[in-house]
Amino acid sequence: MAHKKHPVIIVGGGPAGAAAAMYLLRQGIIPVILERARHPRYHVGESLTGATSLALKDLGLGPKIEAQNYPIKHGAVFYGPDGKNDFWVELVRRNEKFEQVPNYTWNVMRSTFDKILFDGAVERGAIWMEATAIAPLLKDDSVVGLTIRTPEGATDNLYSDVVIDASGISTFLANQRVTGKKVPGRSDKQIGLFTQFANTIRDNGDDRRHQPGNTLLYYQAKHHWGWFIPVSEELTSVGIVVKTDYFKKAGLSKEDFMLRECRQMTPALSERLPDLSPQEPINAIPNFSYRVMNYTGKGFLCVGDAHRFIDPIFAYGVYFGIQEAQFAATAVSKYLAGEIKTNGNPFAEYERLCDEGNDVVEDTIGVLWEYPLAFQRIVTWRDRAAALDVLSGRIYGEEGAKNPARIAMRKLMAAKEKEWAEEASVRAAKSEPELASALG
Ligand SMILES: Cc1cc2nc3c(=O)[nH]c(=O)nc-3n(C[C@H](O)[C@H](O)[C@H](O)COP(=O)(O)OP(=O)(O)OC[C@H]3O[C@@H](n4cnc5c(N)ncnc54)[C@H](O)[C@@H]3O)c2cc1C
Repeated sequence: MAHKKHPVIIVGGGPAGAAAAMYLLRQGIIPVILERARHPRYHVGESLTGATSLALKDLGLGPKIEAQNYPIKHGAVFYGPDGKNDFWVELVRRNEKFEQVPNYTWNVMRSTFDKILFDGAVERGAIWMEATAIAPLLKDDSVVGLTIRTPEGATDNLYSDVVIDASGISTFLANQRVTGKKVPGRSDKQIGLFTQFANTIRDNGDDRRHQPGNTLLYYQAKHHWGWFIPVSEELTSVGIVVKTDYFKKAGLSKEDFMLRECRQMTPALSERLPDLSPQEPINAIPNFSYRVMNYTGKGFLCVGDAHRFIDPIFAYGVYFGIQEAQFAATAVSKYLAGEIKTNGNPFAEYERLCDEGNDVVEDTIGVLWEYPLAFQRIVTWRDRAAALDVLSGRIYGEEGAKNPARIAMRKLMAAKEKEWAEEASVRAAKSEPELASALG
């Protein structure tokens, strides 16, 4: 099989890779998935958006996911620094009459959740190879396949019409310099620390806001926050995100730091954690925010974390992976059917579409950090319905561009970008004479 040419090889069988395989199979294309790990495997990223639950049902995975009895999420509660000034953002969807109606999703154990997606792809006909992609095969300016390494250490070449990079934070094609540069994102220089705890205290009220499966978010200061995500009857994922400098200054191990923050950050969190015995090793991911430029080209495209990760606060990660997988499958099947006529990059339109959605989310998150009061005003009052559309993934095309909440957030972030640019030019002007005097 190794020397046969495949229409599509997907690097990575996480949510983005598995969803890409399922969408391709719908179009009659049988992909190979290269996945180096065996599912189930631990992964962070347990809170799903409402749009993700709709996509999962559309993929026919609803019954398998329901059978896991994952906690049901109706929305997220944001707690302010004093633990009191909280507000609630509910999940909604648009029905056939375009009315906004309540929606729900799941907070999941990624080990079992990712396995459901991966098995779904393989059961439907995707070919899984347990192997690591180690280098691209290039001909002129095209990717024509991959060199892979098997778990036994053997290497081989696989040929393809298209490589889909769904390698997540490993950003395989970017590291191999097939794409443009990988640059830091706006939420760079931060670190996320996380584990799971048992015996946590959850809400248990009658209304949607007080349901036990909801996500709770604790805003302490700019880029200093925590999450509380019930992932099973027994376990709750808890995470703390802080600036890397703040973590380093504390001079503590990641374990001690995480437990200190769980105790001290805010009583609104600590009072829910009577038992601080970690049920998973305390993990840390630094510098998780980045963007890969020019992530499509002849013979390749990137999906999900393989090209961009903005900030975990609104739990868009898995959503982007699955949504972009659908866009990618459409673009690839058109390309293989000869419907995209170009001598240049056949996936430029796919890249433009993905950027559009990512930019909306980057602005939304940017407003939360830069203008928290304006954010609360837009989301809970001024443009509430429009903001709920953005948060439910209606961020592409005209619908995204004409959304009043999106327009308001863009204006705010354009003003902030201008301020940043002015600050940068003042810094550059200052450093020029310094440089001149240093050079004598
Ligand atoms: C602190 C933090 C908190 C987060 N919280 C949330 C959240 O609450 N909700 C949410 O939706 N998202 C969250 N995310 C983001 C989420 O984890 C990711 O966006 C999501 O997992 C991306 O899916 P993916 O399929 O692109 O990548 P992944 O899920 O990482 O899958 C990539 C797969 O590729 C495989 N792979 C990599 N390289 C190779 C190779 N060379 N050869 C073969 N296989 C390879 C890996 O083994 C892996 O299985 C969070 C992220 C961080 C950092």
